Amino acid sequence: MNYVSTRGGNENIVSAEAIIQGLSANGGLFVPTEIPTVDEAFLAGLTNASYQDRAKQVLSRFLVDYTQDEIDACVTAAYGDNKFDTAAIAPVYPLREKDAVLELWHGPTSAFKDMALQLLPQLLSTALKKTGEKSEIVILVATSGDTGKAALEGFKDVDQIKIAVFYPQNGVSEIQRRQMITQEGGNVTVLAVKGNFDDAQTGVKRIFNDTVYNEELRADGFKLSSANSINWGRLVPQIVYYFSAYADLVKAGTIAAGDKVNFVVPTGNFGNILAGYYAKRMGLPVNKFVCASNANNVLTDFLRTGVYDRNRTFHKTASPSMDILISSNLERLLYHVTGGNDAQVADWMQSLNETGRYDVGAEVLAKIQELFWADYADDETTLANIRKVFDETHYTMDTHTSVAEYVANTYRAASGDTDTVNVILSTASPYKFNQSVLEALVEKDTLEGKDEFAMLDCLAEISGLVVPPALASLKTAPIRHTTVCAKEEMPEVVKAYLNE
Ligand SMILES: *Cc1c(COP(=O)(O)O)cnc(C)c1O
Repeated sequence: MNYVSTRGGNENIVSAEAIIQGLSANGGLFVPTEIPTVDEAFLAGLTNASYQDRAKQVLSRFLVDYTQDEIDACVTAAYGDNKFDTAAIAPVYPLREKDAVLELWHGPTSAFKDMALQLLPQLLSTALKKTGEKSEIVILVATSGDTGKAALEGFKDVDQIKIAVFYPQNGVSEIQRRQMITQEGGNVTVLAVKGNFDDAQTGVKRIFNDTVYNEELRADGFKLSSANSINWGRLVPQIVYYFSAYADLVKAGTIAAGDKVNFVVPTGNFGNILAGYYAKRMGLPVNKFVCASNANNVLTDFLRTGVYDRNRTFHKTASPSMDILISSNLERLLYHVTGGNDAQVADWMQSLNETGRYDVGAEVLAKIQELFWADYADDETTLANIRKVFDETHYTMDTHTSVAEYVANTYRAASGDTDTVNVILSTASPYKFNQSVLEALVEKDTLEGKDEFAMLDCLAEISGLVVPPALASLKTAPIRHTTVCAKEEMPEVVKAYLNE
């Protein structure tokens, strides 16, 4: 099995190369030439296995050019050593008889990005050794908050890699800012950019596209790369937790081996839900994938009509990690449901680029709808739903999870599917979005004058959940990164850091 571009061309490479390269030369995303399948015995074997063992078994089906020893070492480095606050890594919480919550936020930064960004750096570092790449890789990240911190934690002190993260000076929450400026590690730097997220992102893109600058870096032994969610090395770790959740449900007796379940996924870039699609194609028994969006409901419309149209107002919502109008990973789904029709995919992506819109037509839509169902929740609904679920079950959800939990119920009502167990993917600890969660749960005046640290304590009292130690300690953690730069200065700042 090799990896090829969703937009055709003659690249045909092993997974280690796809992970180093990130994006294909023609702008397409790397996809496996075959999707491996597993049998009932494989699934049964996962039931009593640890998360790490489940990961080793699933990953080895896709990363066929890695030795089992290499995969084992990567998995141990990513998910071992108490990096997660529970041995289960991604535990399943029984919310109601037929509703379970898959908690993906027990990692070092309390958000779902850790599931992939703990493993990607290990896969990348191993890939460099395997392919004999001698350059030092420099990861550049522009972040609106969560991804930057998760990338820093994942890449810190990993061999042959350096990482620089740019965040908008006044565009992240106080908790997010502190998480980043206190970052430890000998190979990391964190920089505030004067401006908003777009300024930071444009600055990073300009660096990637500056040929002369890239050549100068190469002469010094450095090669730029990115850690964003189109890299196959970020997608493949996410396939594991679909198998893991299923195995846990069988183990708990919630379902019998072979029963189908629904997965309900709060979606932005379509990476999380697409990992589930790969699990299903491998043989995991899934009935429907329910795609949950916030007010940026471009995917809801697409999955209902077959028309993807990004020409619409962008909303800043209470679930900011889903504020996305171009869901890049959808391209991989289109490739697979058209049976690998790369010319067709390239056409659609060109149309998206030029007009902001494409239409996949009735036949492709019907294929997609066999597996996917979609709905959305606006902010008012999302906050009211946090309250409702808390009042009914005493379970505290963050805003992203609430979007999914709400849509799980609209799916039940609309489809009449009341028998299948819904697995709701929970993508952030409620502490990560404590202000919105508290607005949902307490009277307004309770919050007046409270800073973000006081809010952590307030949420602890209400929810009964322990404040994640990494968040609690931020108040007193030493500040290590203080550089502020204009967006025009970003290239020089990166060079200065590399030449330190
Ligand atoms: C990134 C993120 C999402 C969206 O995941 P995609 O893979 O982009 O669809 C949802 N919730 C949270 C908290 C996230 O950080």
